[in-house]
Amino acid sequence: MSKRAIIIGAGLGGLLCARILSRKGLDVTVLEAADVPGGLLHSVDWDGIPCEQGFHSVGGLAPGEALEKIFRPLGLMDLPWYRANVDEGFPFLRLNADSELEKQHILHPYQQSVWRLKGGGDTLANALAEGLDIRYGKCVVSIDNQVITCGDNSSFEADVIIADLPPRQCLKLVKDHIRPSFIHRLDKLETGRPIFTLYCLLEPGCVEWQSGAIFLDGKLMIHFAEPETGILELLCFGEESPEKMLSLARTRLPGLKVTKYRSALFPGYGILKHTGTDYLSAKTPLPYLYLTGQNIGLHGILGTAVSALNTCKSIRL
Ligand SMILES: Cc1cc2nc3c(=O)[nH]c(=O)nc-3n(C[C@H](O)[C@H](O)[C@H](O)COP(=O)(O)OP(=O)(O)OC[C@H]3O[C@@H](n4cnc5c(N)ncnc54)[C@H](O)[C@@H]3O)c2cc1C
Repeated sequence: MSKRAIIIGAGLGGLLCARILSRKGLDVTVLEAADVPGGLLHSVDWDGIPCEQGFHSVGGLAPGEALEKIFRPLGLMDLPWYRANVDEGFPFLRLNADSELEKQHILHPYQQSVWRLKGGGDTLANALAEGLDIRYGKCVVSIDNQVITCGDNSSFEADVIIADLPPRQCLKLVKDHIRPSFIHRLDKLETGRPIFTLYCLLEPGCVEWQSGAIFLDGKLMIHFAEPETGILELLCFGEESPEKMLSLARTRLPGLKVTKYRSALFPGYGILKHTGTDYLSAKTPLPYLYLTGQNIGLHGILGTAVSALNTCKSIRL
């Protein structure tokens, strides 16, 4: 009989693990707290306008490049990707230059090629979710001796459990004994700053659509053009005043006229990776429990995809 795997969270990491393990013949179910797939890939609705959360551009999708090698076997290269201006990758050169490993694995692909996707993160999330057994509205509240319980009191038993959650959040759910040194190590890891996003609905034709990065007083602000929806997204680390962000954006886009705006604060890229010791393995002290997602290994679409591959390879079947 095939092994039963339960994946907690239908973010990019969880969905990729589900696809990979299903192809290996495991009986896979994904439990997702929300009522849609994708986590940060999913767009949020603003008066009928889909606004991206954690998906703008990706690097390394040209033939033979890093992300293409992961996405092609999963059929994801059939999606409507298109090549973007290479400047859209530049913000990440500064944002993620924390360690040599990040430079190699995240920055280099952006220098090779930058890509966007018609329909944005939802297109990727829906393609990944297709055909998988995903149970929505299932917020996991405990993991006890291979039994997972959700907030609605439903429970699921599994041979293998993968958590696409921040590791500390995952451990809070675990009722089994975990050696204190592992908990202590997780407690010591630093989490990166949140990302503040200002969604601006532009007056049609006021500026030419353009993405890029602007620096002022050492602070970085990225602007992502979403001409499909008429939205210009301004992103920076930590909360910032919308007026300040808009006046900074006008230094690059002088005719900018914003009809209305709204803001959101996202938890960011998870655990900071300064040195090799900040990189967590997918394995936990519990033989049945594995981690995946942007907190394991590297963040971003590429980083999370590499982590999903590593998680699936780590599983003792
Ligand atoms: C503002 C912003 C912009 C970004 N832009 C880019 C970009 O342009 N390019 C790029 O490469 N990367 C970008 N990223 C990074 C990228 O979005 C993430 O690295 C990646 O999507 C993380 O996926 P994940 O699976 O680790 O986590 P998540 O997407 O957070 O998925 C976790 C899932 O678990 C679910 N969940 C949580 N708790 C429970 C529970 N108890 N029970 C059941 N389900 C649960 C959540 O609902 C969610 O669906 C951006 C990130 C941010 C914040």
